[in-house]
Amino acid sequence: MSTPALKIYNTLTRTKEEFRPIDPAHVRMYVCGPTVYDYAHIGNARPLIVFDVLFRLLRHLYGVEHVTYVRNITDVDDKINARAAERGISIRELTDETNKVFQQDVKALGCLEPTVQPRATEHIGQMITIIERLIASGHAYAADGHVLFDVPSMQNYGRLSRRSLDEMLAGARVDVAPYKRGDMDFVLWKPSKENEPGWDSPWGRGRPGWHIECSAMSWAHLGETFDIHGGGIDLVFPHHENEIAQSCCAFGREVMANYWMHNGFLQVEGEKMSKSLGNFVTIHELLHTEKFGGRKWPGEVLRLAMLRTHYRQPIDWTVKALEEAETSLRRWSEFISAGAASGDSGNFLHAFEGALADDLNTPLAMKLLHSVYDPSQLDKALNLVGIDVRRYARWIENEKSKSVDASSIGALISARLTARALKNWAESDRIRDELAAMGIVLKDNKDGTTTWEVKR
Ligand code: AMP
Ligand code: ZN
Repeated sequence: MSTPALKIYNTLTRTKEEFRPIDPAHVRMYVCGPTVYDYAHIGNARPLIVFDVLFRLLRHLYGVEHVTYVRNITDVDDKINARAAERGISIRELTDETNKVFQQDVKALGCLEPTVQPRATEHIGQMITIIERLIASGHAYAADGHVLFDVPSMQNYGRLSRRSLDEMLAGARVDVAPYKRGDMDFVLWKPSKENEPGWDSPWGRGRPGWHIECSAMSWAHLGETFDIHGGGIDLVFPHHENEIAQSCCAFGREVMANYWMHNGFLQVEGEKMSKSLGNFVTIHELLHTEKFGGRKWPGEVLRLAMLRTHYRQPIDWTVKALEEAETSLRRWSEFISAGAASGDSGNFLHAFEGALADDLNTPLAMKLLHSVYDPSQLDKALNLVGIDVRRYARWIENEKSKSVDASSIGALISARLTARALKNWAESDRIRDELAAMGIVLKDNKDGTTTWEVKR
């Protein structure tokens, strides 16, 4: 049966369109990546998962070697500078450390590595080239050590976000600065103080603005125009509008990317996630601590919970939704490991791929998984969206063995307390040694209780 045609909702046209890559044999996609100064939160996980599903689908439709997916790492930024200064380390040390955790987090969420993960600081040369071109073509000007993009010089500015000038002014929270010609003009390059990270440039020692980074990295790895550009809905304005302005004006092109895709926002238990509300939750905490719902969550559950809502809809991140996702996952995992078909699944895989190809209709695809009666088809479908039931089963086994350990340690400790109460020192010492061999160190407290910790 033929593979269904891929349709994508394009923010640029506000319609669902059939996807046609520039090169029919190779798809090029860019997604704005993290600013690596702190742990990524569960809102950040949404574009990571959504665009990973798209990457997997594209590889399935066009062939593994025929898709280039670029997700950048923003490793220079004022928040990074401030955090590094606070800790007395270099920005490279801070961003290396944060990036390492980030890579572990996305792997746990079941995401493939993008084809390229370029770092902003390794593309300063390309940024300078683009800025020089913009100045030469009258779209940018240098003033006071800064270089600014001259917004009124671009006719189509605002095409992606479709905002009026007043709305854009409000949305951009523009800084009024004496070196700016127009209120909307945005920074391409800014001067660095002695103690701030900086690079030599024709405009003095300085550092790039945020938007120019993505124009430079997408150009370096995908060319002047490419197929798909993605990110969260909050990036439409001003970030993506400004990327378009820079790239189109520097390269004399009508478009930067043909399809612009944006995921909706994630909130937690009905409220906007924020540090001040105390409901801010990182991917790392969900995976490794008991902060959310009093337990750890395996990456597969987080991923499935994300995919049960369509990527353009807002999503409410709740403990209940995670529990529901886990119930399905457990059922599928057991069904696959039992390995016996229980009925006729018809054209299940075709319908499943059709749902994904229809602008990533993952909620429909996940629903279809409940009416498949063939474990090998179920396994294939889950693989296509990056859900690995075997890894999930291993996680469960591992957690179980840890809790068995904890209860057997508890039993040994109380047996030792009994032995001590009976003044049976030989037995008490024997149990202490047995625990020591397991790597457990005992501490007898003044109040008669015994606590334990794992030897380091
Ligand atoms: P940032 O590090 O804030 O630039 O965000 C990295 C990515 O996560 C961007 O694509 C954002 O649009 C996206 N993002 C940030 N917060 C949320 C959220 N609460 N829900 C969904 N996506 C988000
Ligand atoms: Zn970007």
